Amino acid sequence: MHHSFIARISAAAILLTSIALAQSIQLTVDLSDAPRNIFHSRVTIAAKPGPLTLVYPKWIPGNHRPSGPIANLAGLKITAGGQTIDWQRDPIDMYAFHLQVPAGAKELQVSFDTITSGESAGATGAAASTNVLDLNWNQVVLYPQGTNSDAVEFAASVHLPGGWKFGTALLIKTQSDEMVEFNSVSLTQLVDSPLIAGDHYRQIGLNQPGEFPVHVIDMVSESEAALAMTPQQTAAYHLLVAEAGALFGARHYTKYHFLYTLSDEVGHHGLEHHESSDNSVAERTLIDPELRLMEAGLLPHEFVHSWNGKYRRPAGLATPSYQEPMIGDLLWVYEGLTEYLGNLLTARSKLWTPDQYREALAETAAVLDHRAGRTWRTARRYRALGAVVAAAGAALAKLAPQSRLLPGRRAYLAGGRHSHPAADSWAEVSRRFLPLISWRPKRRSQGRSVHIRRCC
Ligand SMILES: [Zn+2]
Repeated sequence: MHHSFIARISAAAILLTSIALAQSIQLTVDLSDAPRNIFHSRVTIAAKPGPLTLVYPKWIPGNHRPSGPIANLAGLKITAGGQTIDWQRDPIDMYAFHLQVPAGAKELQVSFDTITSGESAGATGAAASTNVLDLNWNQVVLYPQGTNSDAVEFAASVHLPGGWKFGTALLIKTQSDEMVEFNSVSLTQLVDSPLIAGDHYRQIGLNQPGEFPVHVIDMVSESEAALAMTPQQTAAYHLLVAEAGALFGARHYTKYHFLYTLSDEVGHHGLEHHESSDNSVAERTLIDPELRLMEAGLLPHEFVHSWNGKYRRPAGLATPSYQEPMIGDLLWVYEGLTEYLGNLLTARSKLWTPDQYREALAETAAVLDHRAGRTWRTARRYRALGAVVAAAGAALAKLAPQSRLLPGRRAYLAGGRHSHPAADSWAEVSRRFLPLISWRPKRRSQGRSVHIRRCC
């Protein structure tokens, strides 16, 4: 295992050297049709005459599987100097488009639409409604095949629906009315920096005056009433930031945005990133005590991932581009340890009472007593097959939206809350194992070269 790790690092270094010429791609995303669930992309790519293959991101970080929603891409048109260029989809790789750049052409204009009414970035529902949108950049880009995502720079801008406000970890270069231009970033950082927007928006700061790095919650929702976070909840999220600092002892990011969408019209999910997390829940989550309790662990979980999963990334998930398969055999660390530490922070930040935390631990233990899946595979093998299990879970959810209708089949797949088996293990071994992991940053990290030590 150690040899394959070294080989992977060497291969990555050679690849980086061979593509030292970073190229810059212009991307404009017109989101004015977001309420109809159509995002329009215009991409300008420098090119030279000859064959070229453009690819659409396939293996999506945080999903750990080939979930790039290729079926949602429509209306692809490619031109050079006003001349339309014919393209062919690869007969085997549905994410690749082949074309010939004509003589004399220096750049390509590529336009296409992304239909966002269906599965989007691992969520089960739409990415937008008449009041909110969630832009995951991997859904609106094409880039040349063979490009390392760290080595290509994107100058991205968006056109928002009239009057909407937005939140993202990207830095703003210019802004006028609904047009927003961001500072250029690598494709890695762009895909790592989603944007939410809505006509009902509220931002809450989570720092003491003069304290850095800055942490904020950006919220969008279907209604103004749904943004009514109480002072008690706000105090808990302040505490979450402070307790995470105490737990990890260092912060590797320059700012952190909790992106929080409250809507019954879009897909619900949590997706982790270095400097933000993309969280989407039911519209009344802040104002309904039961919903609030159910979702209390979501923001802490995704926040922990910034350290465990992003700053420290399993070797098999540290791929040079979104077309390379990810190896998920360390996901029991990535998800299980995050679930354990996320729940710990949920209690320490007072989003749960100590009793509620103990109840959650007891529930995990009780659920595992009925997980027949554990009799035929380990948590590690289960997570290594994350792609298969996610697909099976989605199929079962479609068959029975009330998942309790099929408890036996879910149990046999060890489905449901995928992180529970590993979280349970982490609760058992945390005191002995945690000292082996250093969370202290060695350098500013948006990169992929840091790894969780293999433990067993
Ligand atoms: Zn997670």
